[in-house]
Amino acid sequence: MGTVEESRLFGGLEAGGTKFVCVVGTGPDDIVDTLRIEVGDPDETLDAALGFFRETIAEGRSLSAIGIGSFGPVELRVGHPGYGTITTTPKPGWSGTDVLGQFSSAFGLPVGFDTDVNAAALAEGRWGSARGLASFVYLTLGTGIGGGAVIDGRVVHGLVHPEMGHVAVPRHPSDRFAGNCPFHGDCLEGMASGPAVAARFGRRAEHLDGADRSTAAELVGFYLAAGVRSIVYALAPERIVVGGGLSALPGVLVAARAELKRQLHGYPDLAEHERDDFLAPALLGGGAGPAGTLILAEQARRSHDD
Ligand code: ZN
Repeated sequence: MGTVEESRLFGGLEAGGTKFVCVVGTGPDDIVDTLRIEVGDPDETLDAALGFFRETIAEGRSLSAIGIGSFGPVELRVGHPGYGTITTTPKPGWSGTDVLGQFSSAFGLPVGFDTDVNAAALAEGRWGSARGLASFVYLTLGTGIGGGAVIDGRVVHGLVHPEMGHVAVPRHPSDRFAGNCPFHGDCLEGMASGPAVAARFGRRAEHLDGADRSTAAELVGFYLAAGVRSIVYALAPERIVVGGGLSALPGVLVAARAELKRQLHGYPDLAEHERDDFLAPALLGGGAGPAGTLILAEQARRSHDD
């Protein structure tokens, strides 16, 4: 009996840019062990994560697969020589790190690999704010802005994973901020990420109050709506789920919903676009990424068995 239950356990690694979260379990309400690791250089960070799973197995827990959701950009084309590596990150030392390869060779288990944002999208689809929907987008507003699209139940990959944070956005008429994306200046991420808010106000968003906080919420809401408009027209999602630390800034979603209505301007006139839950707050918070890595593990197990 115990063996049957244990064999359903998955390992998951959310490899974020500032912290790694390792989990063992089957879902967000069934995490039997977890470890958070502050990100340092690649060798010591990955060694700590590998060590956690080695210990898990040594303690007698049998894992049936491991899933990894990594910060990017990452190579996701199966069969490409760089599959499973972090590609051109500005994060010192991490470009070219073969995250997937180290886990595959260490454990001999199927290993699923995707971006941290796509993992979170999968989790919101199974357990969170996009439950029951076939086509939706998950956006995270934080240190960076990222998006994962699930269309007909599948995460969208192409030449690379989508980079929704870098879509072009119009400028808010009263905003003089130049934008701080190192590649594009005033793209969505350059105008509405946590660092963009902090650069305007001299304080992190969670420390803002009064008029500064309302202004920040209005600006982030404006740019979020502009980005969402492009996503609505390009992908036709049934819902857009918004997570990440900055999405908790009071007033952001209210401002974004009102602004989206203005920007869509009645086209194509769908009642669904005007519903409050079309732009819905994420339900799983910081747990979405780690939970999603368990889905990546499950998918890897299934394709290995097929
Ligand atoms: Zn950009």
